[in-house]
Order: sequence, then structure tokens, then C-alpha cells
Amino acid sequence: MEQTIASVYSGSRKFELPPDSSNLSVALFAPPLLEPFQPSLSLPYLAAQLRTGGFSPACHNLSSLFYIWLFRRIRMQSMAQYAALSDAVAVLRHRTRFYEPESYHTALETLEHFTLAVAQRDHLPYTLYPESHPSVIVSSADYRSLVSAMRGTLLERFLEDYVGFTLRLESYDVMAFSATNAFQLASSLFIAHALKRAGVRAHLVLGGHAVSLAGRDLVDDRDLSGAIDSIVLEGGADILSKICRDLYAGAARRVYAGNDIQIGVDDKGFPTDKPYDLVLQRDIDDLYLSPDQTFSIYSALGCSYGACTFCGSNRENADYVPRQISVLVDEMASLNRKYGIAHFNICDNNFDPTRASFFCDEVERRNETAYWQCTSRVYKALTPALLRRMRQNGCALMNIGLESANDRILRLMRKGYTVAHAEEMILNMEQAGMPLHTYVICGFPTETAAETENTLEFLRRHIHRCHSIYFQDYEAQLATKVFADAFGMETEGYTAARMIDSLLLEASIQSKYVAHGNLLRRKGYPFIEDHNFLYLSRETASRQSQGAAA
Ligand code: SF4
Repeated sequence: MEQTIASVYSGSRKFELPPDSSNLSVALFAPPLLEPFQPSLSLPYLAAQLRTGGFSPACHNLSSLFYIWLFRRIRMQSMAQYAALSDAVAVLRHRTRFYEPESYHTALETLEHFTLAVAQRDHLPYTLYPESHPSVIVSSADYRSLVSAMRGTLLERFLEDYVGFTLRLESYDVMAFSATNAFQLASSLFIAHALKRAGVRAHLVLGGHAVSLAGRDLVDDRDLSGAIDSIVLEGGADILSKICRDLYAGAARRVYAGNDIQIGVDDKGFPTDKPYDLVLQRDIDDLYLSPDQTFSIYSALGCSYGACTFCGSNRENADYVPRQISVLVDEMASLNRKYGIAHFNICDNNFDPTRASFFCDEVERRNETAYWQCTSRVYKALTPALLRRMRQNGCALMNIGLESANDRILRLMRKGYTVAHAEEMILNMEQAGMPLHTYVICGFPTETAAETENTLEFLRRHIHRCHSIYFQDYEAQLATKVFADAFGMETEGYTAARMIDSLLLEASIQSKYVAHGNLLRRKGYPFIEDHNFLYLSRETASRQSQGAAA
């Protein structure tokens, strides 16, 4: 009989390691909560990196499972409500109804209202999509209070009933949690306490972006993090492999940091000349709320330009580690063959024209079909011919920072282009029919009100050439980056909200664009980024077939 999380039998608590460290039974978990729309990026890559180190980890996306569990468990309370939620889930997974704006929005609202009602009951910031109700997730930044709020909630019930019942907790030697946000961090700490209380014998590891941000405070707070056996403050699969080997040698430590990274491939543990063996959970079709899966994929770490003063990918802060493009295309082809995935988010910080051109060469040579989006920079080399070629090869959207329409500010940012260059590129994109999402930084230090007005004027002239614009408040989101102190915080620049309000005063803009948080997007498209990408991919496919027919 399966053991539940609350009552693992005592015999299983004795730690007996297998004869070879690579035979350790390792499980990787994405804890609640992440958006349940697409496979998480970190888990498959972490698992693939561990496989290259000789381990065979199992992956469990507890986050998506939690949402699906919530939607299904209601049937014991109300079949009518269960039917409504099931219909909504079915619409979001339906190949036609998903693309009917009314059906789509109704389905999303149904699920979100239900999730928020549960959030109210549990006093936890559950939400389907973080941008939907900002006030609901504000409190999620405090992982300490989140941990104490989790007792007696449905999240706890999920862990006891679902995790305890369905996962073979007694068989794992190592259980690792990857936390990218505060809620995931809190969930991991909460789960760890429950597992230890139940006597689960596995060595518990906690890492991820949220852990790096929490840093030593988290380590020192034994009440909170005492159930974790090893905390990873820096590093990923490389450190996890090391922990497994240390565990086998009887020398696993409580804290691992950057100086523990010792790997032979390159500085970042990022193989550049061979594809990752990416394996997704078998129940992939039942986990996510989209008709097609979008998978995030990297062609490089860091940025080939790497000079912008506000950016975490500035070379002072981060190396540039490019992979061979053929390796990227190998991975895409393998995901397509194994799981039918044809939508890819190339999540490099800067998929520059050289890489884009090599990518098109490779896709054309192999005659592959895929839809993809990427982030690049203002480059003169993004010519209409290259942009058209990218479009023909499935590029559905390009994300490119405008940041400001003032040469003085662009110089301070060390963006390496002028307003004239940005304008030329926007026109090139229009000519090539390439959808553009752009970013604007609001209130950059020393910015004057007149300079903000210049940017607004530029946007009024060009917004019809943009699919969407994201306005980013400098103070709120960027001030902690490398050069923040160099410019101070004095600014007369407008906030994101004021810039958006100002643009929407114009009737022609208001009739075609709608704001959602700091995002201004063409009407008729979803605000969920992965869903927006699927809408645009469908348009790309239809243009491709029209082009082929002409
Ligand atoms: S802002 Fe973009 S182009 Fe500039 S360094 Fe960062 S990733 Fe590179």
C-alpha cells in the first residue's frame, strides 16, 4: 500500500545509499506556484544536466498538479461547479475554441475567479497568472509569513493527499526543490518540514533564483530552513551533482555557494556543443492549460552585446556563453519528435542577427517547421531581408527594447544605438511583417519631463507598428542592478502608469490598444504571454500558407 506523507513507516527512515553515487534515486520538484500554462523551464534543463553527470532524476511539477487538483477536487462538493471548471479547462486546451476570443476570455475568467475564491478562503495569493490581480500577489514577497499561512490550507491538503499518496517518497535518496519565486520558496520550506515530520529519509536540497535572493538570511533562520539538508545559494545542476557525490562520500554540507562550482565543460556548466537530453513528464498533455505546449530553450547564456548599464547581463556581471546553433535546432527537433512540441520561446537575452541568420540557415537546411519568438536588440543588421527570412522560418514575435527615445538617455544606458537607428529598425520590422513587442524604461535617473514627452511622442508616431509595449519603472525593477549607484535615483521622468495613461488619452490608440498592468497590447490578444505567442504563431502559420499559395 502507498504511504501517505504523514505516516511513512519507520523502516524507510534508515539511509542506505546504493553502491554507486550515480544510482542515487533523485527527484526534482517545481513547487507551487508557477503559471500552469506551459512546462517550466528549470526542471527539464536541470534534469538534463544531471543526466549528463550520470544521474537519472525523476521530475514532478507540483505547481501545475496543484491547479489541476484544485479544479478536480471540487467535484465532491459541487458537480455543477466541477462541470463549469472542466469546460473552461477544455476550452483552453481546445485547438479551435482557444482562438475564439470570447470563449477564451470566459474560460480564463471562470478559472481565475475560482482560484481567487480559494485564495480568499486560504489567505494565500493563489492566482492563475501573476499579472491578473496584482494586489493579490503583493504579499507573496514575504516568504516567511507565507510559510506560516500555509497551515490548514488546501495547499497543505494537496501535499498530504496528493504528494503523499501518489509519489514514492520512501524510495528517493535525494529530493531537490527549485524555487524561482517567493511563493515557491515558501512552499518548498513548508513541504520540507512536512516531509521531515513524516520521517521521509531523503536528503532535501533547496536551490533556485529565490534562494539566491534570500541568501544567508535564509540559511541563518534555522526555524524556517532547518528541515533542508543542503541549501544552494549559487549554481544549478553542477552543484546538485556535487551534493549527490558528497552525500555518497558522507560529506554533504548544509550550504553550497559559488565557490563550489567545479565543472569541466565550461564556466557555467552549459554544454555548448551537444544537445541536452530533455525529457518531459509523461502526463504533459494533462498538466497545462494551453492547446499546444511552448517550450523555453536557450542558444546562449548572457548577452553578446553586454554593455547596457542597467542590465544584469552586462559583461561586468555575467559571461557570454553561446552554444552552437545546430545544437539548439537538434534540441528543438528532438522535442518535436518525442513530444510534438512545435512552439519555442528562444529565451536568450539577445538573439542577435548573427545567431538569427545561422538559425535560419540550419532550419532551412533541415526543412524543419517550428514557431518561435526571441528577444534581440536594435541592430542595423536586422534588415528587412533577414527579418523576412526569420518570419518565413516561423518567427512569430520579436522582443526588442526601445528603452527611451532620447539619445542622451540611450548614451547613459550605453545602449549602443540612437533614436534614428531604433526608428529605422521599427520601419524594417513593419516592412517585413514582423510583430514587435518593445520595452520602455520609465524614470531613468536624470531623465527630464521633456525627455519623457519625447518618448511619448515617438510612441504615438509608432505604436501602430508595435504589437505591444511594456513600461518598466526604473526604480521598482532595475535599481539593484550593477550600475545603479552611478546615476543616483533623481528623475523627473514619468512613471509607467502615467505614460500609459497619457498614450491612452488619444482616441486612436484607445480604440486599438488596451492596458493590463504595465503592458499595453493590441486588443484581441491574450495577456498571458504564452497564449499571446500561440495566437501570433497561428497568424504566422496562416501567412506562411498564404505565401506558399501565392
Ligand atoms: S539590455 Fe539587452 S542588449 Fe543590453 S546588455 Fe542587457 S541583454 Fe544585452
